[in-house]
Amino acid sequence: MPIDELDHRTLIGGEFWKKLQPYAHVDESLFLDHSWQARNSIANIEKLQAVLSGLVSSEFLDDAKRGVQRSSMSLRISPYLISLIDWDNPYADPLRRQFIPVASSLLRDHPKLTMDPLSELVDSPVLGLTHRYADKALFLALDSCPVYCRFCTRSYSVGNNTKTVDKIQLHVNPERWNQAFSYIESRPELEDIVVSGGDVYQLKPAQITAIGDRLLDMKYVRRIRFATKGPAVMPQKVLTDLPWRDALTRIVEKGRKLRKEVALHTHFNHPNEITAITEEAMGQLMERGVTIRNQSVLLRGVNDSSATMISLMKRLSYINVRPYYIYLHDLVKGVEDLRTPLDTALRITKELRGVTAGFNTPTFVVDAPGGGGKRDVHTFEFYDHDTGISVFTSPAVTAGAHHLYFDPLHSLSPEVRQRWENPKEQDVMINDALSKARISPPRSRAEKQRGLPPGGPMTPGDVLVRGDHSTDPELWR
Ligand code: SF4
Repeated sequence: MPIDELDHRTLIGGEFWKKLQPYAHVDESLFLDHSWQARNSIANIEKLQAVLSGLVSSEFLDDAKRGVQRSSMSLRISPYLISLIDWDNPYADPLRRQFIPVASSLLRDHPKLTMDPLSELVDSPVLGLTHRYADKALFLALDSCPVYCRFCTRSYSVGNNTKTVDKIQLHVNPERWNQAFSYIESRPELEDIVVSGGDVYQLKPAQITAIGDRLLDMKYVRRIRFATKGPAVMPQKVLTDLPWRDALTRIVEKGRKLRKEVALHTHFNHPNEITAITEEAMGQLMERGVTIRNQSVLLRGVNDSSATMISLMKRLSYINVRPYYIYLHDLVKGVEDLRTPLDTALRITKELRGVTAGFNTPTFVVDAPGGGGKRDVHTFEFYDHDTGISVFTSPAVTAGAHHLYFDPLHSLSPEVRQRWENPKEQDVMINDALSKARISPPRSRAEKQRGLPPGGPMTPGDVLVRGDHSTDPELWR
């Protein structure tokens, strides 16, 4: 076997952070301390400039400053991640691209991008509880994370307000939580609850316990998934925040005794995010019987090659994290530079299948814009490679509706990009795709809920985007 096929087993270890001058004095016990990681996370441009001074050019720092000013997401990045970035080549580094924007790389948004591309707000009977699939609900317990990803699909809520977006707040709030729990209890068809945010890493141990106990005590709830990006960005917490780890373990064990599954869902995007620290943290969770699954986002310049995805898949499998889903990037505003066309997903999924065991091979999905739920990338009704429009249906979730995905403008020809500048041409391209998909004009879910006829008036989304009031999450449903 060629040696490079075993590369996934070679994880960065030792005191790798000491090569960066700001962390040269930090010993192992301090670097593994989760509270030190949180306290020293970089949450503003001044601190970033201070930490990176001497490591990168002043042009890069100025570029990052202008990038942060234009970003929908606030800045937060852990010392752990900072240590894993190649600062000799920051523009190309796959971790830097995910967490630190630079103005020179930003691209003009496709006109169909919005702040809530999955219409989670439309499908929320209680603020912070999305009920879309018949037997599953998504509970957003909070709106903060240990780091902030540039491409967050919940940019409408997660993190602090930025210069471009006023966020809908989903703070920890017992009253809101009780409303969500009461709704779940009132719907016996709900068997599967995803607890997310924000990120459950930010919940206190007592809050993990309260949520877990309350949901496990519900007769019909059979499965709970706690969602956190934490293991990918701050695995130290699993190793040194023992009350948090014990609270999670206790809920997992309680679930097992009740014959209910409690799992952790995490979010690694690149093999460089997996170190010897991660391996130890995931190993300790495995010893405690915690099932861990991974959901990645396909990101341009980060993981949009088969080689990188294979490496990620094999490395995750090696540390006992099951690769579960790879999402095509949602149609969220402000990160057009990170989106890839559907074609990229179709190509990579073909090349991944067969590399390793099927249960360690992720499924590539489109989370159908407008609230159709996850669709296997192969199941489009029609895909126009020229205009970049793909048409999906979702019979079990939105029978009779269509959902359109739009490839990024940078993947289209100059002529087609020009057509997307013109609203009339946009309609021509969309209607052409719909007619070729042989789908009759649909009524959107919002139209049905409001008793409106097809083509009835649209109302703006609830998210205020300063300087841009054209965002309507229902435009293409
Ligand atoms: S950790 Fe998840 S919820 Fe938080 S910013 Fe990243 S993608 Fe969004």
